[in-house]
Amino acid sequence: MFRTIDKLDVKGARVLVRADLNVPAKDGKVTDTTRIDRSAATLIELASRGARVVVLTHFGRPKGREEKYSQKLLLEHLSKAVGKPVAWADDCIGPDAEAVVSGLKDGDIALLENVRFHPEEEKNDAEFAKALAALGDLYVNDAFSTAHRAHASTEGLAHLVPAAAGRLMQAELEALSKALGSPERPVAAVVGGAKVSTKLELLGNLVSRVDYLIIGGGMANTFLFAQGVQVGKSLCEKEMADTARSILDKAKAANCRIVLPVDVVVASQFVENAPNTVVPTNAVPEGEMILDAGPASAAAIIECLGGCKTLVWNGPLGAFEISPFDMATNAVAQAAAALTKQGKLLTVAGGGDTVSALAKAGVDDMFSYVSTAGGAFLEWLEGKTLPGVAALEIKPAPGGCGCGCG
Ligand code: AMP
Repeated sequence: MFRTIDKLDVKGARVLVRADLNVPAKDGKVTDTTRIDRSAATLIELASRGARVVVLTHFGRPKGREEKYSQKLLLEHLSKAVGKPVAWADDCIGPDAEAVVSGLKDGDIALLENVRFHPEEEKNDAEFAKALAALGDLYVNDAFSTAHRAHASTEGLAHLVPAAAGRLMQAELEALSKALGSPERPVAAVVGGAKVSTKLELLGNLVSRVDYLIIGGGMANTFLFAQGVQVGKSLCEKEMADTARSILDKAKAANCRIVLPVDVVVASQFVENAPNTVVPTNAVPEGEMILDAGPASAAAIIECLGGCKTLVWNGPLGAFEISPFDMATNAVAQAAAALTKQGKLLTVAGGGDTVSALAKAGVDDMFSYVSTAGGAFLEWLEGKTLPGVAALEIKPAPGGCGCGCG
């Protein structure tokens, strides 16, 4: 259980908000403001409740102070997103920051310079965390995407000032908890993508938590190979065959049904519109490669989802970037979106290419929740404790009820 901003008395308080404003930029210009726009809700709410809002965030991977990673370029976009001028401080600690913060009035918002200009940030240095804490009375973490890192502004600070989850963090945690914490069953997971080796921990965790594990993409080839299927020139990690077999055994012991393709789309080249054919999985020609799950596989997956209440999705079912090898990903994504719309399926997706695959299928805004938090989402699927989230958890006081009321 974690505290939200509902119970924070923010009027007149200096509230340090760790946001994720790490937006894509080119030649000193922001190219996509999605993260800024999404972060605005918490900032606007806090300001309208009379807080003096102090925004902390990182941008890029600077080595010390590097002007090309200055966050000043975010300022006009942030002002636009929150609908008012935002004050600026040239540093996130020290006299510059202190002067700007002490000049704030109730309802004002300030943006401080990149926390990663100080190497102490990523080391979760205690003195640096204290210097940040000196600028605030309360701390709100709204950056789920960096919650898998124990940095000063994502973890250390939460132990120094009263802490709560912002609205974005809250939405993410609630969606994730509904999907795997205490889900409505049956639960299915679609796991696709290129390689088994990058998703071992994720597969290992999911087999003990879901009822159906639907495996697609290049990694399905390794599972098929492990079962004696010839996969021709397909992407396949033959050295992972033993690992794939042990995941299959673990699934059996946990009563998790593994769903693998029954037919596949094969081509001799990995290029857009390459001539292709659909073959049963056990009839892949020697010189060809599997680039997508076939129509019978997609239909079987859709039927499986029709009997489920919850779906977690990470990774495409085929080489979705090159048409027509996006067919299975699109068909399954659209069916999952339709079931979501009918209220029959809770759908949570995220990680790496998944967001672009769902966007390409035209359904990224039709799932119950799509997480844009790459690494943090994957670590959560792996069953790991995210330090930034753990630091927000309410610990029951001795003799207390643990609900955060005290
Ligand atoms: P990941 O980052 O692990 O989620 O993998 C996504 C990548 O897997 C995408 O670039 C897809 O093109 C690729 N992929 C999916 N299926 C296949 C396949 N059958 N053969 C080769 N690459 C694939």
